[in-house]
Amino acid sequence: MSTARRVFQLMAKPSGAICNLDCDYCFFLSKEQLYPGSPFRMDDEVLSRYVEQLLAAHPDQEEVTFAFQGGEPTLMGVDFFARCLQLQREHRRPGQTILNTIQTNATLVDDTWARFLADNDFLVGVSIDGPREMHDAYRRDKGGKATFDRVIAGLDRLREAGVEWNALTTVNAANADHPLEVYSFLTEELGAQYLQFIPIVERVTEEMLPLAEQQGWGSRNHRSVLYTQTGTAVTSRSVSPQQYGRFLIDVFEHWVRNDIGDVYVSMFDTTLAHFVGYENVGLCVHARTCGQALALEHNGDVYSCDHYVEPDYKIGNLADGRSLLEIVDSAPQQAFGQAKLTTLPKYCRECDVRFACNGGCPKDRFLTTPDGEPGLHYLCQGYQAFFRHVDKPMRLMTSFLRQERDAGEIRGWYAARDAKRRPDDPCTCAGPQPWGRCHGAAVPDVPPPPSDPRSS
Ligand code: SF4
Ligand code: SF4
Repeated sequence: MSTARRVFQLMAKPSGAICNLDCDYCFFLSKEQLYPGSPFRMDDEVLSRYVEQLLAAHPDQEEVTFAFQGGEPTLMGVDFFARCLQLQREHRRPGQTILNTIQTNATLVDDTWARFLADNDFLVGVSIDGPREMHDAYRRDKGGKATFDRVIAGLDRLREAGVEWNALTTVNAANADHPLEVYSFLTEELGAQYLQFIPIVERVTEEMLPLAEQQGWGSRNHRSVLYTQTGTAVTSRSVSPQQYGRFLIDVFEHWVRNDIGDVYVSMFDTTLAHFVGYENVGLCVHARTCGQALALEHNGDVYSCDHYVEPDYKIGNLADGRSLLEIVDSAPQQAFGQAKLTTLPKYCRECDVRFACNGGCPKDRFLTTPDGEPGLHYLCQGYQAFFRHVDKPMRLMTSFLRQERDAGEIRGWYAARDAKRRPDDPCTCAGPQPWGRCHGAAVPDVPPPPSDPRSS
């Protein structure tokens, strides 16, 4: 088996599925059942193998990313991460630099944590779903209590310490109809400059639906069912395809006029990259193939993907005698990665926005196409609406980039057109409100427009 160097990410879960919170939509909490009786703490032996093997898997790369997720990784305590940094220093090869990232609910972040993360240049992802009432709709603790104040307190510590952070925001039934409120809260009130929106699609079987509706996946409710990617029903917490498309369009219409170049929205960056011609960059859900974002459990088990931590997708263990590269290059993982492409229904293969969409994540491909073929993504309608809506601006930004100009020059292009709109014109987002009461209400002052390179 070839072990040619490949770019891949490994998301480590040092505390497994254990979390101090109990968010209703968190499918990962049920993964605790995979390891009955486990202490759910990555021990020093596994940590050492992880650090050693990840560095060894990237011999020529300048930057190696260590990504910690959960569960809630801060439950491991600062000492665990200090030990990890010590191991990184011991095993780092000449020329390698290391980036540590951690995804957290921020509720346990105190001054000690914030100082540690700042001193060691961690990039911190904070899970927050918007203003208080939207955040607290599903993000609750094990006693069912709201968590917003504790998240904001932790985030304040991070910001005071100067930690670089980004917002990870799920789009769900509680916030999906309030895109601009969510966006302005994150960017203006919290000062977030990097945003990632994750659609909540809680896919369940018809039989499971009543239980999932009542109880969610949190342990304050039940842990009787191991969540797997099956069924064709979704819970009422899930975002609808129409809502998701609308959410992205509304945010895009605001962002492209006001914040492009200052605020980074992963979906927009990924889309632009696909228009430019890249295939496997940015969000994995819109990459052409899978297989490059693996998950590492606390005991060294390696799974095909963070979203497939299931017995059928366990592809190795750090102690099984193979290197990480051999596991990444193994036949099951290669097959897993290629399946995303080879199982695309004809409807997707012939879709005009397939180059940007690539059919979405396989875990949510449970609809039937109009011509009766299975395997269409649940969010297809929203994806089509968004990718088609941004076609023109994305092509324009692509042409700017190809001329080595700044994609942000598109603000001038919008300003020139917006200046001619009247308040009661239809809004450019194609929503129900007229321009003056919709995106036209927040049109910024912009520099004089550059020439449109395509019209010359
Ligand atoms: S299975 Fe889904 S989440 Fe996993 S790598 Fe593929 S697209 Fe990404
Ligand atoms: S927009 Fe829909 S049809 Fe087109 S590639 Fe994506 S999932 Fe397939």
